[in-house]
Amino acid sequence: MGSFKLGKMTMRSLFHKPATVKYPYEKRDLERMFPDLRGHVQCDIDTCILCGICSRACPVGAIAVDRKGGTWEIDPYRCVQCASCVRECPKKCLSMSTECAPATTELSVTTIHKPAAPAKGAAVGGAGAGAGATGAASGQGARPKSKLTPEQEARVAAARARKAAKDAAAVVASAGASKDDAAAEAPAAKSEVTK
Ligand code: SF4
Ligand code: SF4
Repeated sequence: MGSFKLGKMTMRSLFHKPATVKYPYEKRDLERMFPDLRGHVQCDIDTCILCGICSRACPVGAIAVDRKGGTWEIDPYRCVQCASCVRECPKKCLSMSTECAPATTELSVTTIHKPAAPAKGAAVGGAGAGAGATGAASGQGARPKSKLTPEQEARVAAARARKAAKDAAAVVASAGASKDDAAAEAPAAKSEVTK
């Protein structure tokens, strides 16, 4: 490098702001400067179904999923920001934040707890406690009825019509049987009278 070029660089550095900032007190707008930057993995636990695919996709074993315990865990100091987990997640609840993992003096694991789903049929809120069984049966906890397709509706209507016809036939048959019984009893009574 020629001395002229070196002098030019030195002069430019003298009159420019420093290239570094006092992190973490001062931060740069990394999102704007480097839109494709891979900071750290973020998980939207509300969307996560704890399937564990991200954990199997991670080449360094940085993610642990405990379905029974309802936790999603990442070791940010083991993660190499390859984004395999983000690509493989079927619910698209993982993303690469442009923010770097916070500065720390101790290595730690980040654990996110999935909120427990409300119990089936349980009344929502404390106000409905007195409502008891009716609140549980007809309240918001009840599963919404699924809508039938036109084909299924036609099948249900046909089955109902068949059942109605069968019931009507049964009623007619029982009425006929009672008539026959009455007719059979009548001569017997007559014969008794004649004796
Ligand atoms: S792959 Fe996605 S949905 Fe499955 S456990 Fe991981 S973050 Fe949750
Ligand atoms: S970004 Fe890569 S290394 Fe980090 S948790 Fe996801 S799969 Fe593992």
